[in-house]
Amino acid sequence: MTKKIAVLPGDGIGPEIVVEAVKVLEALKLQGLDVALEYGLIGGAAYDEAGTPLPAETVTISKDADAILLGAVGGYKWESLDIRVRPEKGLLGIRSELNLFANLRPAILYPQLADASTLKAEVVAGLDLLIVRELTGGIYFGQPRGVKTLENGEREGFNTLVYRESEVNRIGKVAFDIARKRDGRVCSVDKANVLECTEMWRETMTDLATNYDDVELSHMYVDNAAMQLVRAPKQFDVMVTTNMFGDILSDCASMLTGSIGMLPSASLDENSKGMYEPIHGSAPDIAGQDLANPLATILSVAMMLRYSLDEAGMADKVEAAVSTVLDQGLRTADIHSEGMSKVGTAEMGDAVVAALN
Ligand code: NAD
Repeated sequence: MTKKIAVLPGDGIGPEIVVEAVKVLEALKLQGLDVALEYGLIGGAAYDEAGTPLPAETVTISKDADAILLGAVGGYKWESLDIRVRPEKGLLGIRSELNLFANLRPAILYPQLADASTLKAEVVAGLDLLIVRELTGGIYFGQPRGVKTLENGEREGFNTLVYRESEVNRIGKVAFDIARKRDGRVCSVDKANVLECTEMWRETMTDLATNYDDVELSHMYVDNAAMQLVRAPKQFDVMVTTNMFGDILSDCASMLTGSIGMLPSASLDENSKGMYEPIHGSAPDIAGQDLANPLATILSVAMMLRYSLDEAGMADKVEAAVSTVLDQGLRTADIHSEGMSKVGTAEMGDAVVAALN
């Protein structure tokens, strides 16, 4: 049966990089991939046309689809808008409308780009780790929250870290199931020595592990995890953690690879329906100049094939094609180094399609 993909290009470099990812999907259709694309507006582009960063029609198209491909949202033009209609609200809105609770962020370093990292090549060459971050709970959503003024006139700010066992089980299952398809190791990151909520998180993960004899579970405190990520990142296979810890650790992990234009991400719901997007933003500083690296978006298509469309073979092909163009020495400006051929956004996309064929 034909699978539906909602395509939401968004703002800035979003439309340019999504065009290249769609070229890849069109090439795969010629190789037997049975998908239909439907386009929707999101972010500033949606505000300009429909007066809201997340039109109802975009939500309908996305709910109806098997997977969503997103470019990026935001830009200078909309920075002075009321916060309720800023482009970023569209992104947060669609995540919660679709209940995308599991954020998957791989940090993969292609050996051809080992020099792009700020860490020594031997520490990061061959890095392939996946952070599974809980995305719809924890301290970013917990109540009560706010800032109040005390009797002495001093202000006091407060937020609440809260998780239910069911939420921990749900994200834990995602991590364990994925580890089964990788190297079979999960490291659960918490602060169980200080925070009761994450002590419960640790106990729940330990109980869950009894259903996964083939997966090895370890636990690590978040402060140590941050240190280990820059000391010896290759020790990790899958890391699973709370919303806030995952927010911080995944940014740290992404920089191990030194190239924001290379990293894809997925946000999944309970039925493995997902939204796929590069980890970077709309890069308004380089928009419209054929400078953006489309590879993170193309690699997001590979994740979509693997996690939502059940096409692991095609996902492997897309990743191999990206590796081939890097072997050919093709580099967009953000990953360019001496002796390599500098190419633009469109030329890079065309080269990936050629490698696929
Ligand atoms: P950014 O990721 O857009 O850009 C940071 C730097 O990286 C810029 O110098 C940019 O030119 C460069 N860069 C980013 N992607 C690149 C690519 N594919 N190829 C080459 N270079 C690339 O982050 P920012 O500048 O902090 O934010 C710009 C806008 O994007 C803001 O409006 C922000 O709110 C929004 N944003 C959106 C998302 C999203 O849509 N998921 C994520 C982060 C930021």
